[in-house]
Amino acid sequence: MTVLEQVRDLIVRQSPAPLCDDCIADKLQLSIRQHANHKTRELAITSGFDRRKDVCSVCGSTKKVIRHA
Ligand SMILES: [Zn+2]
Repeated sequence: MTVLEQVRDLIVRQSPAPLCDDCIADKLQLSIRQHANHKTRELAITSGFDRRKDVCSVCGSTKKVIRHA
């Protein structure tokens, strides 16, 4: 499974709850946070995914989150 697939799978499983890049990196134990950021930006242009500034369902911070609509 590629990192992109892992990220997508995690977001779909948490659906419709939004997740921020930090929590995605944390849950998938990605060593580089930028890795999650890059993947969510890639998914944001994929249909069915929504990336916006909102409250993360895991850490409660208001930041860029992504969810599966
Ligand atoms: Zn979070």
